[in-house]
Formats: sequence, structure tokens, C-alpha cells
Amino acid sequence: MNRASAAVSPHLAPVRPQADDAHGGKIGTGLVDIDQMAVIFGTGQKAHRAIEETSIRIEPGEFVCILGPSGCGKSTLLNAVAGYVRPQRGEVRVDGEPVKGPGPDRGMVFQQYSLFPWKTVKENVAFGPKVAGKPWRTAASIADTFLTMVGLTRFADRYPAELSGGMQQRVGIARALANYPRVLLMDEPFGALDAQTRQMMQESLLNIWSQFGTTVLFVTHDIDEAIFLSDRVLVMSAAPGRIIADLAVDLPRPRLPEMTAEPTFGQLKRQCMSKIRVESLKAFEQQNR
Ligand code: ADP
Ligand code: MG
Repeated sequence: MNRASAAVSPHLAPVRPQADDAHGGKIGTGLVDIDQMAVIFGTGQKAHRAIEETSIRIEPGEFVCILGPSGCGKSTLLNAVAGYVRPQRGEVRVDGEPVKGPGPDRGMVFQQYSLFPWKTVKENVAFGPKVAGKPWRTAASIADTFLTMVGLTRFADRYPAELSGGMQQRVGIARALANYPRVLLMDEPFGALDAQTRQMMQESLLNIWSQFGTTVLFVTHDIDEAIFLSDRVLVMSAAPGRIIADLAVDLPRPRLPEMTAEPTFGQLKRQCMSKIRVESLKAFEQQNR
């Protein structure tokens, strides 16, 4: 057993939100419907089409990766689901409710560690529940649950600057989950980590996800990462972005590092690589025009 999977206790009680539980979670929530959505930045001559009309449906509890070349609109797509970006056309619905702005039902984890440096690890994770009006004791107990889940109980009273990049990202995941989101949105969360830490973080995330069971929408430009993690890989075209391939990842779970050597993995990788290569070339030519 490697360090990451050892960090997450196998004896932890599942914290998948129960039907109408104390946190308002419901089984089977987290259906994401991106319905004929287009995003354009700016107006007139300066208008930039970031996302071409796109429709995607993501089932409750599904782990979906969005893969595409730099600048193709991956972050924009995620930000539209998060509610930071308003689409010009179409809409995003989560469990049938149109997204009108950011909300705690959609937790976000960014590449850069966006923790409060002046708060301890535990205070960072308890922040969401506190803002939601929970008394400190309840918020702290929720923080404890998720810090155990990400294997950082021992670091609860430390400050973010005292932690490694990988640990800070685990705090970021715990903080997002502490709001019991219907959807976890992750924007290249492991992009700044070294290869070994990254591999362990991927396994750790899958372990957490198997316990929490929330829908995950994960953006990456790393083909191996996309295949290793997801149930489905959505490949995006060069700008303006749209989905050009929807590939089911038919590998059993739990995913193990050695599966990357299996023929199914190799086949999927080749499929993704050829799509991405064409799109990267297009993106490269567009940038050099
Ligand atoms: P990716 O995450 O795939 O690298 P982004 O979604 O960040 O791509 O960006 C897609 C395109 O939209 C880029 O050309 C980028 O410059 C542009 N863009 C992103 N956000 C904004 C914004 N707020 N205003 C104007 N243009 C933006
Ligand atoms: Mg991005």
C-alpha cells in the first residue's frame, strides 16, 4: 500500500450524503446539464468565442474529465458550471436548477492553493460550514471528518505555509467537500505537483471520491491523468471550445497504477492523443497567426 492510500483510513464510515441528512444532502444528486451553452468574452470586434454551443449531461456520481489543449476553454466551461461565468446562450442546470451564480452546492478546487494563509488547516476546512451558519463545534466536527478523509488530522492546527503543495491541495479538497457539494469542480488541481506526488494525489482523490460519491468534473491537459481517474473523458477542440469526443473509460475500480500498462488504457490513450494532437496543432497555429 502506498503512502496516499495509507493516508486515507479504510475504516472510515462512508460520508456519502444520506437522504435528507443533517447537511441537506440527497442520494442521487449532482446531475449536471450543460444545455446548448455558448460563452463569448467581450463584444463587437473584440468578441472572443470561448465555448461554441455545447451540450453535456453528467450523471449523478459520475467522474468526468475534460481534456483539451491550453486555451481551449476548459476553465471557462468549469467556471460556467461554478457560476463565475455567465453564458451568452443556453444554460447550466444542476439537478434541474439553473445556475445563476456561485454556490456551496458546487465546490471548486483550483490549481493554485487558495487557502486562507492566516487560518489554520482546520479553520480553513471549517470555513464553509461556518459561513453556512453552523455553530463552531459542528463546523469543527465536519472539518475533523474531512481532514481524516484526506489523511491530515495531524496537521489540523498547522498553517497552510507549513504544508507541502500536495498537502495543501488535500486541504483544498477537504474544504470543498465540507460544504457537502453536489458537484466537485477541479481545475488542473494537481498541475503544480511533481510526478510522484501527483500519482499519489490521484489515487487519494479516487479513494475520497469512492467514499463521498459526489459528481466530479475534473479539468486536465494530461491524457494519462484523465484516463486513470475518470468514467468518461470529454475531449475539447481548440478554441472556440466544444466537445469533439466522449470516451467511456472501461477500466475496473479501484484503479491501480499498473492499469496504465493494460491494452484498454493504451487504446484510449492513443485515441485521446490523436484527437489532442490535431487540436493542439490548430491551437498552435491560431496562437502564431
Ligand atoms: P483553458 O483553461 O482551456 O486553458 P480558458 O478557459 O482559460 O482556457 O480560456 C479560453 C479562452 O478564453 C482563452 O483564449 C482566454 O484568453 C479567454 N478568456 C478566459 N477568461 C476570459 C475573460 N474573463 N475575459 C476574456 N477572455 C477570457
Ligand atoms: Mg485553464
